[in-house]
Amino acid sequence: MFAGGTARLAINNGGEAPLELIIEPWADCYLIPPKQSWVVVTHAPAGDAPWTGTSYGDEPFEVDHRPDAVTVWPNGNCFHLGDRAGNAIDAADHQCPARDPLAVTGR
Ligand SMILES: [Zn+2]
Repeated sequence: MFAGGTARLAINNGGEAPLELIIEPWADCYLIPPKQSWVVVTHAPAGDAPWTGTSYGDEPFEVDHRPDAVTVWPNGNCFHLGDRAGNAIDAADHQCPARDPLAVTGR
């Protein structure tokens, strides 16, 4: 069982046009269709001091909003992007501690 941290961030496009979603630092770009909700998940190796991507403490995500785009910074090791039904859209999970137990030990 995965003992690290898991955080989920739902992003809702309540507008009439597709919403640009950028996930950094991978610079991956997506378009969320109108009236859809997507979920970004990130994992951290340790459950108690989890989020390596921030120096501000317990912040699993940071979000930058611009008029027609949203940039999300997952502060864990990886991201997994899916829709609310659980269908995977994309991932940058090669350093995912939940998938690769070796990452938990930092190796
Ligand atoms: Zn992961």
